[in-house]
Amino acid sequence: MAEAVAEPITAPFIEARSRPRITHEPAPIDLVRAERAAADMLAALGLPIDSEDMFETPRRLVHAYAEMLTVREFDSTTFRNAAGYDELVLVSDIPVRSLCEHHLLPFTGVAHVGYLPGERILGLSKFARTVDFFARRAQTQERLTTEIAEHLQQRLEPQGVGVVIEADHTCMSLRGARAEGARTVTAALRGRLRDDSKTRAEFLSLTRDRAVAR
Ligand code: ZN
Repeated sequence: MAEAVAEPITAPFIEARSRPRITHEPAPIDLVRAERAAADMLAALGLPIDSEDMFETPRRLVHAYAEMLTVREFDSTTFRNAAGYDELVLVSDIPVRSLCEHHLLPFTGVAHVGYLPGERILGLSKFARTVDFFARRAQTQERLTTEIAEHLQQRLEPQGVGVVIEADHTCMSLRGARAEGARTVTAALRGRLRDDSKTRAEFLSLTRDRAVAR
């Protein structure tokens, strides 16, 4: 579970700027054990891992997964909403790269994150960091969408927050149904973005316009 750990901040800055470290402590990665197991699995799948070309493949495979599963911590800097901005802020087309927890195959796409600011606003680059933070683990698209929305809701206490993710799942395009080009869309709406029909429609039409433009 991700949790926000507040670092000590001196009093004059508390009002204007808050910068807690967003961290995550997964179980440690044992590369040696993983490489041994990967070699066993690839050999059992009939792959010539003793050949010159594939000799290093178990190590590369394990390092690739370790990288994709390593969460990058970041400072979630928020600022006082000094201008009292209360219209929708939308950060669109944030890259999403994650691993589906059922097949450990990648799913990739984009996230659109919007919110109606309350007392605090978030540094714009932090939306991409937030998406990446929750994406770098074994996930489902549904949970990823919800976790980003919940995190922003708790962190910013905005008037509303909305997250839409559109993604292609390679477990669906490369195997099984082989439904190439199928796109999965998920949405999580909170506060006024869920309850106020006008705001909700504005957010959803803006994210749809992004999808049509692509
Ligand atoms: Zn899958």
